[in-house]
Amino acid sequence: MEYIYLDNGASTRIDPQVLNVMIPYFEEIYGVASSQFSHQPGIKARDALEEARNTIASGIGAKPEELIFTSGGTESNNFALKGMALTTNRGHLIVSKVEHRSVLYSARTLESMGFKVDYLDVDSYGQIDMDKLKDLVTKNTLLVSIQHSNHEIGTLQPIEEIVKIARERGAFVHTDAAYSFGWLPIDVERLGVDLLTITGHKIHGPKGIGGLYDRKGTPIKKWIDGGFNEFDKRGGTENIPGAVGMARAFELMTDTEIERVRSLRDYLKKKVLSIPSSHLNGHPEKRHPANLNVTFDYIEGESVVLHLDMRNIGVITGSACFSRSLEPSHILMATGVSHEHAHGSIRFSLGRFNKREELDYVYEELKKVIENLRKLSPINKEE
Ligand SMILES: *Cc1c(COP(=O)(O)O)cnc(C)c1O
Repeated sequence: MEYIYLDNGASTRIDPQVLNVMIPYFEEIYGVASSQFSHQPGIKARDALEEARNTIASGIGAKPEELIFTSGGTESNNFALKGMALTTNRGHLIVSKVEHRSVLYSARTLESMGFKVDYLDVDSYGQIDMDKLKDLVTKNTLLVSIQHSNHEIGTLQPIEEIVKIARERGAFVHTDAAYSFGWLPIDVERLGVDLLTITGHKIHGPKGIGGLYDRKGTPIKKWIDGGFNEFDKRGGTENIPGAVGMARAFELMTDTEIERVRSLRDYLKKKVLSIPSSHLNGHPEKRHPANLNVTFDYIEGESVVLHLDMRNIGVITGSACFSRSLEPSHILMATGVSHEHAHGSIRFSLGRFNKREELDYVYEELKKVIENLRKLSPINKEE
């Protein structure tokens, strides 16, 4: 049997339709258009870049000149926080405890440079505490950065309400929508955010390309110095094949496509939660359509991951021994669960290429693996 990849939250396989539109920009139209009055290959490349920008910008309700291409979500998040920190005399930042490390560690870096940072608590579903947010936003708050959807437990945040609260005190709002982009409707006008992060490789697009939406008038400072690229907001030769591929990948994320994956996720969810002593992590409804995160009591997540991998199934766990930091997932821990609960968690993240038959196999194997591990488990209180 072919390998069953259920780690699409980490990265996805590129869609052949995406790869095909990228190839000419490596082989034929490889010039770059840093000058308005460039040579023909450069002009063709620039046109392709601007077309890609138009496609993506219009799809998120932005103007083309408000979209800056970057090398991905990590860079966009660093840019949003550090680029804003370079601007004004406000010295306070608010992020949530469940952010991606690129936001969390950017905040820590700024903290080490003298910024005051508050790390917002979340409830048991992973949603931020709105009352705490209201208390924390002051006239000294420069930026509130809260993710759109969580890459690990799938929980969505109420961004529109967050914006309203921040605005009252004149704070700017950034949202990390790297995992949401393409999967969930995003309209920067409706959300009201000033900055929004997107990336290409979670939607069957290429790695190494992403973007930062930057609302007109947001006082963000260029922090990758170099040429005048990207409206003089980010130096560096543009990744034109990447931008073209990201735009194509975005076009392929149609409503029917998303609903198809959502119904596969729901199918798997129902089966997996029929396993005794299993619990859903994250919000039951307000969640990303391709994400499922479940804790199985009395077992260690890394044992499940290794056994499933031997059976050609790829998933991940929030367990400590699996991570390089030797701590269980900071996201699960922020939702207030015990170490044991985090250790027993498994993330299944689906994508376009998963099939229903595969999920039947995953369920059968998972059930066997968990039964076997529980028989051996010293912490199985059911015995
Ligand atoms: C994947 C992801 C990132 C990082 O994006 P890269 O393009 O891999 O650098 C940041 N935030 C979230 C929520 C993500 O899912």
